[in-house]
Amino acid sequence: MALNGFLEFFQKGKTFRPKKPFASGTIRYSLHKQAQASLQSGINLRQVVRLPQGENLNDWLAVHVVDFFNRINLIYGTVAEYCNETTCPTMSGGSRYEYLWADGDLYKKPTALSAQKYIEHLMDWIESQINNEAVFPVSTDVPFPKNFSAISRKILTRLFRVFVHVYIHHFDRIVSIGAEAHVNACYKHFYYFVQEFEMISAKELEPLQEMTSRICKDKD
Ligand SMILES: [Zn+2]
Repeated sequence: MALNGFLEFFQKGKTFRPKKPFASGTIRYSLHKQAQASLQSGINLRQVVRLPQGENLNDWLAVHVVDFFNRINLIYGTVAEYCNETTCPTMSGGSRYEYLWADGDLYKKPTALSAQKYIEHLMDWIESQINNEAVFPVSTDVPFPKNFSAISRKILTRLFRVFVHVYIHHFDRIVSIGAEAHVNACYKHFYYFVQEFEMISAKELEPLQEMTSRICKDKD
C-alpha cells in the first residue's frame, strides 16, 4: 500500500529532471533489468549487489550509479517543495554536519549554500557526468575511462549526502506520503552496494551510522 501511494505520487510528475534510460538491447539494459528483477523478488539485498559472474565491473558500476541517481532524485523530488532557503539555509545533516559545495568551476573554494542550491548543483553535476559519453560510454565498443571507478565514488559520495539531508531534515514528509519503506529499501540497496565495492569512506557514512546499523541487517 505504502509503495503504491509513493509511485502514484511520482507519476503525478514530481520528478524534476528526465531519467537517463538504458538503450534496450544493450548489456547495460539487461543488467539494469536483472538488477530490477532481483529487487522485486525481495531477496537479500546484501547478496543482490554482488557482481554477477562473468560481468564487467564497470558496467555493473555504471548501471547502479545511474539507477541510484534516478531513484535518489525522485526521493528528493518528493521533499523538494519543503526544502528552501528558509527551511534549510545550509546543506546540513543535523547540527553536526554541514557540507560545502565546490566544483572547481563556478565555486572554486568550498562554499556554504542552501540545501536546495547545493542539491541542485550536485544533481546537475552528476547529470553532466552521466551524459558525458567519454565517462559513461553508450556503446560497449568505447572503453570506460581509467578513472571511472574514482568518478563513480565521487558521484555516490555526493548522492549519499542527499540521503543524509533527507533523512535528518525531511523524514516527516517521507512518512506523511507513506514512502518510508520505499526510501529505506532504496537506502539499504545503496548502502550494501557502496559497502560491497568500497565506494564511500567510513567518515562520509558517519552521519547515518546509527540508522544504518538499525536497518541494514541482511545476513551475509
Ligand atoms: Zn532541506
